[in-house]
This record gives sequence, structure tokens and C-alpha cells, in this order.
Amino acid sequence: MSTFKAPKGTYDLTPPDSAKYLAVREALAAPLKNSGYGYIETPGFEDVALFSRGVGESTDIVTKEMYTLTTKGGSQLALRPEGTASVLRAALEANLHKLGNLPVKLWYSGSYYRYERPQKGRYRHFSQVGAEAIGAEDPALDAELIILADQAYRTLGLRNFRILLNSLGDKECRPVYRDALQGFLRELDLDEETRRRIEINPLRVLDDKRSEVQKQLVGAPVLRDYLCDACKAYHEEVRDLLSAAGVAYEDDEKLVRGLDYYTRTTFEFVHDGLGSQSAVGGGGRYDGLSEMIGGPALPSVGWALGVDRTVLALEAEGVELELPATTSVFAVPLGEEARRVLFGVVTQLRRDGVAADFAYGNRGLKGAMKSANRSGARFTVVAGERDLAEGVVQLKDMESGEQTAVPLPEIAGTIRECLAR
Ligand code: AMP
Repeated sequence: MSTFKAPKGTYDLTPPDSAKYLAVREALAAPLKNSGYGYIETPGFEDVALFSRGVGESTDIVTKEMYTLTTKGGSQLALRPEGTASVLRAALEANLHKLGNLPVKLWYSGSYYRYERPQKGRYRHFSQVGAEAIGAEDPALDAELIILADQAYRTLGLRNFRILLNSLGDKECRPVYRDALQGFLRELDLDEETRRRIEINPLRVLDDKRSEVQKQLVGAPVLRDYLCDACKAYHEEVRDLLSAAGVAYEDDEKLVRGLDYYTRTTFEFVHDGLGSQSAVGGGGRYDGLSEMIGGPALPSVGWALGVDRTVLALEAEGVELELPATTSVFAVPLGEEARRVLFGVVTQLRRDGVAADFAYGNRGLKGAMKSANRSGARFTVVAGERDLAEGVVQLKDMESGEQTAVPLPEIAGTIRECLAR
């Protein structure tokens, strides 16, 4: 072991488990690729101000959890704590919204960084697959995203998740509610930090996990009673579309989420087998974000699904993903001459598109056969001096144990035929 370890709150993905992560990442993205979303990749760091202005000055993400740094040139940067602000920034910078094809639908996948207190399901480096639909106000778009996330989780085999749904109102009705809520909260017995939060973002106080706070929140004004007619109608339409698609959801008026940019539709996918870090994914509408970061009015909606927590949720449900074997053929040479010959066979198979591997390092027949077994290969090709003298190699079917001599020039073709069967 080296003297170095992965930094606190992070972990490495190593084989064989890493294959599962890769499969989950791909499965989460698959429905998007099939629904008009184009791939976007942005840098791992951005101007700090993008997040403080976009995600919100009062959020934990911005005040406590950002990894910030000053470059040698004096720029203030932050490792990205989330994807939406970056993706919108990139879309605006590339003028994607001006190409006349709204909404601009984008998907992404990558690493995110938050300086959080690490625990199971909460890391300082984690992975998300995300989607953003920029520049359209249409309840069908909100519904589409929720349906696609539901589809992704179901395709993976997840069952014990629930969809929580809420509307946070818009710039007409939210301020009225905000005033009412502030009036209520100012009368409560709260600490200084929470009092400050009342003034900056009172909705976030509703999200406070402490029981002494929750106890006092009984009877707080609820947003639902303040939604304007337009927001109500919009929300009803989203709910109807979800129901028509057979996607079950629960209304959760307390769902405010930890980012300030949300308006109208917000939702979270929670899994009941994960303990306190139960959110496997979440998102919502952010109609004002573009203007907050200096762009034109572009009503938009998006989500991010956590890869790490989805893997944990699959484990909690005991779902085994069917991962294809990474090696179809494993070559075991006995002796120098066989090494050269079988290395050639492996090279040929790979060029033909067959997944093949080789027993490196002169470990003897027993060790080499162990590697062949571990590789999960369907066939092993073994050759020793006597085989080569006869112009053949031994093809062993690892399932039946059956072994046949195949003339050397025919081995690649024979293997392709056997694998195609
Ligand atoms: P958020 O941007 O906070 O809504 O996060 C979206 C999803 O990313 C969550 O539902 C989690 O699955 C995942 N996620 C967020 N923060 C973390 C973290 N610190 N560790 C692991 N996964 C996270």
C-alpha cells in the first residue's frame, strides 16, 4: 500500500465494481439520448460568481460546500458543485438558444464536488447524470423529464423509489407567499443563522431538519394556498400528464430543495432503502436562472440523478445488473513459440471485434487457467509445443469443459462462429 489514500469523503472506482457504475451511468443517460437530448460537456471548474449568483447566496452549497480557489492569475474559481448553472452558461455562450430550435435539450455526465460532512451516500466527490431543457415553458417538458428519470430507474430494476412533486410558484405569486411566510417565521424562537435565512430565503427554513424547528413550523402558511391561477393550471397539467403516463407521484408541499433558482415544478426521487441520504435524484423548473446570470429570459427545466446513490439503491434492493463479460476469449500459451503464435491470434481476434485477453507473465498452466476462469471468458485457446508441431491449437469451451483441436489458420474464424451461435 502506498502512503497516500483517497482524500476524505471520496472513494475510487476499481474493477470489478467500477463496471457497475459505468453501466448505471449509461442506463441513466440512455432515455435522454433517445429523446432528443444532445450531449454537453463543460469544465470541472467555473467562475465562483456563476454559482453564487446562480445557485444562490443563501444556500448551503454556496456558503459552506464550495471548493474555491484563486488561480495564479488571480481568478476566483470553484469546482462545480452542480451542473445546471454551468450548462446554462455554456448554452448561452454558444448561442444555442438563438439557433431557433427551442427548447435546447442537453444531457451531461460527470463529477461534482461539495465540501460536505461525509457519510454513506454523501461524498465530497460524486457523479451525476443530468438533463436540461432550455427555453420553453411547457408542462409536457416538465412531465417528459420526470417520465424519463422514472424510465431510467425502472430499466435498471429499481422499484422502491417514490417521486415527490411540488410547485414553488413564479415571480407573481411567490413574493406574496414569501411575505406571508416571513411574517410567520419572524415570530418564532430561532437562532441567529436561521433568522438571517428568513430574510434571504425563508422557504429554506421549511427544509430545516431539526425537530425543534420543525415543531414550530406547524401552522406555517403553505405555498399551495398562494399559487396564482397560471401556476395552478401549469401544475395541474404536469400532474395530469404524469398520471396519464402511469407515473405515480406524491404531492409534497414541503419540497423546496437546496438551490435557490427553482420556480414552479420541483421534484425529487427518493429511495426508501438509503437512510438519511434518500434522494437519488431531483430537479425542477428554473425560469429565472438565465436572467440571473446575465442571459435573456429562458424558462427551463432540468434534473440531476446521482450515480453513487443509484448504485447504493440498487444494492439496497438486491438488484444484480446483468453485465456482459468483458472477455470472450482468453489465450493460454505454453512455451515461447506458443506465446508468439497465440499473441498473434489474440491480436487478430481483437481486430475482428472479439473481446480477447492473454495470459501474460509466464505464470505456468495452472496460474494461467485461473486467470482464464476469472476473466469470465467463454472460450480458452491453449497451445503447447506439441499442438504447434501438429499445426493446431486447443479450443476449450469454458461452459461445457469440452476441448477440440482446431487447425491454427482456422482458429479466429471458428471462434467467431462459436460466439455467434
Ligand atoms: P442536488 O443537486 O443536490 O439536487 O443533487 C442531485 C442528486 O445528486 C441527489 O439526488 C443525489 O443523488 C446526488 N448528490 C448530491 N449531493 C451528493 C453528495 N454529496 N454525495 C453523493 N451524491 C450526491
